[in-house]
Amino acid sequence: MTGNTDVVVIGGGYAGVLAANRLTQRGDVTVTLINPRSHFVERIRLHQLVAGSGDAVVDYREILAEGVQLVVDTVTEVDVAARRVGLASGGVVGYDYLIYAVGSGSAEPQVPGAAEFAYPVGTLEEAQRLRPVLDAATAAVTVVGAGPTGIEVAAELAEQGRRVTLVCGSVLGPYLHPRGRRSVAKRMAKLGVTVLEGPAATVTAVTPDVVRLSGGHTLRSAVTIWTAGFGVPDLAVRSGLSTDAVGRLLTDETLTSVDDAHIVAAGDSAAPSNLPFRMSCQSATRIGAHAADTVLSRIADQQPAPINLGFAGQCLSLGRRAGLFQFAANDDTATKFHLAGGPAAKLKEFVCRHTLKHLADEARKPGSLRWIKDEKRRELLQARRSEVLSVR
Ligand SMILES: Cc1cc2nc3c(=O)[nH]c(=O)nc-3n(C[C@H](O)[C@H](O)[C@H](O)COP(=O)(O)OP(=O)(O)OC[C@H]3O[C@@H](n4cnc5c(N)ncnc54)[C@H](O)[C@@H]3O)c2cc1C
Repeated sequence: MTGNTDVVVIGGGYAGVLAANRLTQRGDVTVTLINPRSHFVERIRLHQLVAGSGDAVVDYREILAEGVQLVVDTVTEVDVAARRVGLASGGVVGYDYLIYAVGSGSAEPQVPGAAEFAYPVGTLEEAQRLRPVLDAATAAVTVVGAGPTGIEVAAELAEQGRRVTLVCGSVLGPYLHPRGRRSVAKRMAKLGVTVLEGPAATVTAVTPDVVRLSGGHTLRSAVTIWTAGFGVPDLAVRSGLSTDAVGRLLTDETLTSVDDAHIVAAGDSAAPSNLPFRMSCQSATRIGAHAADTVLSRIADQQPAPINLGFAGQCLSLGRRAGLFQFAANDDTATKFHLAGGPAAKLKEFVCRHTLKHLADEARKPGSLRWIKDEKRRELLQARRSEVLSVR
């Protein structure tokens, strides 16, 4: 490609910011980042915003490269044929390459009453809506969902002296190794959180002051917080692009859309080979970097590389004074090792700060982010291909 190349990045979260910054390696690339807010949201601190123990908003000037043009708007449509995006404000922005990094939010709850009476915490606006509700209510709080978000919300509120029940659906922290799970359970007990696990602990209905469980029990609940799963925006679906079952943009292993070589996906809204990585800011920054590398390769008329991403573990805060670092194998399966207590809380805080530092470093020195690799993904894809062939 000769001349200037216009790259539009949709979504200024962890993946989008990393990608936008990394693209500034080339002086002949114009990078436009479109995001609905004029500030960056640190989603990994939203439980702190809910509990009033922290903030979750950062000035883009601290983390975005000077060369990136920020447009505060929402993309309403991707016109694939015309290579342009439509904006909520009515404008259109053309592109040569598009990075689709719209992230995730709270999944639409399927349980009767949950959408009306329970409070999700997956986005800044949801967390901000819940904050004054919690301020006004001193009675019991129910947190539904015991993945990382539910665990972190329950612990953060309990540490402040609130009466909290955590309804797990199945088990506490499904990702965790049994040893890590026991450590979290111990901390929850210390904080006075009632943890309900097992088949009888699935929520079947929510009313303004009651949560009904599959085992027949009802819980009185002044405030019910819904953390059971993330969903993704439907922009790709609405734009006629191929997605996985939940709406993530379907790509090949280079993160390029299976429909169009000019569209590349990153972060929680990407589904490479229909085998997406676990939604996390840990993977979002790396996938964002790889998405930028794919675009830069295409601009240079080179074959982009397949993504190769390994994991180190999952880091949970359990209030401000304790945490858990669940070590994982490179392929993201939890191992029997973990770090708990105060040191893990310090590590979690370090990770949160370091994540922002990664973004800022990439703004100053684009191309600098490096990450651990995992060769097992190739084996996994190969195994799946063989399965498909044997079914045929
Ligand atoms: C309470 C909580 C705690 C968490 N803790 C951790 C943790 O400890 N560790 C971890 O790894 N992960 C954690 N996560 C998950 C993590 O926050 C996400 O996986 C991560 O934010 C994904 O990054 P992303 O860049 O893909 O998307 P996001 O951070 O969601 O960013 C996407 C951006 O795109 C914007 N956008 C969406 N649609 C449009 C549109 N149509 N036009 C323009 N812009 C659009 C959004 O507004 C947003 O700014 C946590 C999440 C929550 C809610």
